[in-house]
Amino acid sequence: MRMDRRQFLKAASAGLAATGLSSCAVAPSAPKARVVVVGGGYGGATAAKYIRLLDPAIDVVLVEPNEAFVSCPISNMVLGGFKSMADITTPYAGLERHGVKVVRDLATAIDVEKKQVRLARGAALPFDRVIVSPGVDFMWEALPAMGSEAAQSRVLHAWKAGPQTAALRRQLEAMPDGGVFVITVPLAPYRCPPGPYERACQVAAYFKAAKPRSKVLLLDENGDVTSKGPLFKKAWSELYAGLIEYRPNSKALDIDVAANTVKLEFGDQKGDVLNVLPPMKAGNIAAPFITANKRWCEVDWLTFESKAAKNVHVLGDALQIAPAMPKSATMANGHGKVCAAAVVNLLNGETPNPAPTLVNTCYSMVSDKLAIHVASVHKYDINDRTFKAVPGSGGVSSAMNEAEGAYTMNWARNIWADTLG
Ligand SMILES: Cc1cc2nc3c(=O)[nH]c(=O)nc-3n(C[C@H](O)[C@H](O)[C@H](O)COP(=O)(O)OP(=O)(O)OC[C@H]3O[C@@H](n4cnc5c(N)ncnc54)[C@H](O)[C@@H]3O)c2cc1C
Repeated sequence: MRMDRRQFLKAASAGLAATGLSSCAVAPSAPKARVVVVGGGYGGATAAKYIRLLDPAIDVVLVEPNEAFVSCPISNMVLGGFKSMADITTPYAGLERHGVKVVRDLATAIDVEKKQVRLARGAALPFDRVIVSPGVDFMWEALPAMGSEAAQSRVLHAWKAGPQTAALRRQLEAMPDGGVFVITVPLAPYRCPPGPYERACQVAAYFKAAKPRSKVLLLDENGDVTSKGPLFKKAWSELYAGLIEYRPNSKALDIDVAANTVKLEFGDQKGDVLNVLPPMKAGNIAAPFITANKRWCEVDWLTFESKAAKNVHVLGDALQIAPAMPKSATMANGHGKVCAAAVVNLLNGETPNPAPTLVNTCYSMVSDKLAIHVASVHKYDINDRTFKAVPGSGGVSSAMNEAEGAYTMNWARNIWADTLG
């Protein structure tokens, strides 16, 4: 049965009563307030949509330079040749149907004093509150030779899904059989802990079918696989024996771009295609709100309001994580909902929910059909004012299997609909 808008708002207000959040079903002609959201990824798009669902009297403007949303989750399958770019791309029209005004532009600065977001092309946007969810940017200074645009266009990260995903796939297709594909993994925390290991599986699946004399070499700065370790290692030995080599404690110091070589503490490693994941930090537009390790933004976890500035909320990968909280799409989507509810409360003179809960489920496709997962529940701890993983609430798959592969695609379709539909 389809719910119309009135029925949805009635049901939503009943459901949200438990969280201390009221919904305003009647939209006055003049907007009650304006929220500008910077970044239309998992965190920002979710927050923009949910503010409109919870209080249509609030004006929501989303600033995003890309024409459409391209998902990092499932993008490794494009590298494996099992999905297309179209499969991971969703237009922003769904948000517009909720009344979100989508401005295709780049935010260049957030003026906290004047309460304005400045844009690269358009006029500055005034706000009552701003939500910033720019994802990550790369610390190229850690790999000096990678500082130039020429180097970055040759040695790809493909860690923001989009043109680089398609370009890396083309490099893999052009690589001769017998070649070596090298992935460098930075020290955690970085975006998507299991992502590099899933990528190794996807590329190895492609090699197994199309270039069986080739090899994937994972050079990991971490001492061991940072997520789902035993499950990935089992997949590597059972599905890709001889195709994947894993080297822990291997820190990339720099890249010799012309020679296709990773410079390591102990010796150099040449490859045919290099895929370099540099250390990461909060997306550049969030730089004024970085308060932890010169890399990440700290927030009040009840509202996601920045510890550095009032009326500024930060979400997603840009955050200094709470204990055991991964930098994942599921988390960013959850941040978006908790923040949207809190922002609606604050703009209505109400108290935000004092006990929010977040959940995380992270699937990894280890072949075209088989998958594994890790899950956890994170509750706000009133005493320590942070989210904490609930002991025994989650866990990992018992084994890779096809049912999990089907769940992975269900998860992806659900989160795309929830974020953008
Ligand atoms: C290969 C890979 C696989 C992954 N797989 C999974 C998975 O299976 N499950 C999972 O849960 N997570 C996965 N992730 C992690 C997930 O993609 C991120 O955690 C998630 O995207 C974080 O959401 P976000 O809103 O912080 O950033 P993003 O989703 O990256 O969104 C940031 C948005 O901000 C925009 N932006 C940046 N700067 C500006 C600016 N100045 N002005 C305007 N807009 C701006 C960008 O264009 C972008 O659209 C994966 C990541 C990778 C790289």
